[in-house]
Amino acid sequence: MSPEPIIHRCECEACKAGLDTETAKSHQRINLFLSRLNEPQKRWYVATLSEEADGSSDRQLTLITGLDEKTIRRGKAELQDQLAVVPVDRQRRAGGGRLRAEKKTGS
Ligand SMILES: [Zn+2]
Repeated sequence: MSPEPIIHRCECEACKAGLDTETAKSHQRINLFLSRLNEPQKRWYVATLSEEADGSSDRQLTLITGLDEKTIRRGKAELQDQLAVVPVDRQRRAGGGRLRAEKKTGS
């Protein structure tokens, strides 16, 4: 049973003013995506946004995503460290076996 995902509402100027700009749409997409991620995945994603050359500042990302700057910095540090703290196996789907070939080709 998974709870209804809570989608953060961006608190930047454009979104608070209710403007329907590309910026606002992009912020909504970011928050929609974030709503489906777990905590570590959220901070890594926001960390990558933060490190984009023309990306938003951490302060801005805090407004957009609701993650605090400390969390974003932590995400960046973990990425810098090649996500050494994260066991790779956990990221894979369990029991993702091969589908049985049982096609009905009514010829
Ligand atoms: Zn916004």
